[in-house]
Amino acid sequence: MKNIFGPTPNGETASLYTLSCGQMEAVVTDFGATLVQLFVPDRQGNLADVVLGFDSPAAYAASDTYLGATVGRNANRIKGAAIVVNNTTYALQANDGVNSLHSGPMGFERRLWQVAEQEQDRIRFTLHSPHLDQGFPGNADIQVTYRLTADSLEISYEAVSDQDTVFNMTNHSYFNLAGHDRVEKAMEQVLSMPARFFTVANEQCIPTGELRSVEGTPMDFRAPKALGRDIGADYEPLHLQNGYDHNFEVFCNPCATLSDPESGRSMAVYTDCPGVQVYTANFTRGDGKGGIRYEPRCAVCLETQFYPDAIHNPQWKQPVTKAGKKYQSKTSYRFSW
Ligand code: BGC
Repeated sequence: MKNIFGPTPNGETASLYTLSCGQMEAVVTDFGATLVQLFVPDRQGNLADVVLGFDSPAAYAASDTYLGATVGRNANRIKGAAIVVNNTTYALQANDGVNSLHSGPMGFERRLWQVAEQEQDRIRFTLHSPHLDQGFPGNADIQVTYRLTADSLEISYEAVSDQDTVFNMTNHSYFNLAGHDRVEKAMEQVLSMPARFFTVANEQCIPTGELRSVEGTPMDFRAPKALGRDIGADYEPLHLQNGYDHNFEVFCNPCATLSDPESGRSMAVYTDCPGVQVYTANFTRGDGKGGIRYEPRCAVCLETQFYPDAIHNPQWKQPVTKAGKKYQSKTSYRFSW
């Protein structure tokens, strides 16, 4: 099903597409290839919309929160907003102090994507990104596919460039399994993550290169615990980011499981990415869908990706895809209730 969403800042018309499978329903827009709504039943069969969002393309364009967005070419930060590929330096657009965040101010989240294929349970968006778009080398063709199954939302990425370039795509959904409007409930939700290490970052949220053991720290989610339990702990990495905003290693799947004890909803994240950024919406504030007032810590993002600033940390898995080779990545959010 296709509906009009509204005008984009460029005067184009953005659409909303509804996907369904069994009890699951998702609404996505071609503006930013963004997930706008995701309805999941609770143990009584009542549906709730478990992702944060806005009611118009203009509201998405006016925000720097990346709610539900497809982020690219590079998710997360790049120190000094510059990269070197094949001995050539490429200047990116700094939009987070001197650093690049989610690729710059006019990223893929603010573009109108093409719809290449749509069926009841899936949609495939495509985007052409020219050479030096956001500063990155290579003419690139990018695809993102959303697919619903009876219990999962699968997001798959494919990209090809005619020069070696960075591809590190993610989806930036903010989850609140009690429902996006149950702002006060998010930090009661229980996170379980097998990760043994996280990336230590400085006050600009740029990794120092250290992978630190979670053992004995508030970053340890190997035993499930409420997101809010230790978020106020006296621990420098939490102080520096005003909560969780850290990348954790992915060495097995599911790499993260979020559960809402009250509704019975649970979401397990499966990915082929090496890292997952846990971000507790530390600065999110403003009016969201249906006039709901979002507040800091009203949701959590579980963004699968390469480690932040991996391009400047050669000891980590690198986000560079060779010319003509296909970048492929897939993340699934599997629900139970
Ligand atoms: C980052 C945060 C940032 C947020 C919104 C997250 O992916 O880790 O530091 O504030 O995106 O831009």
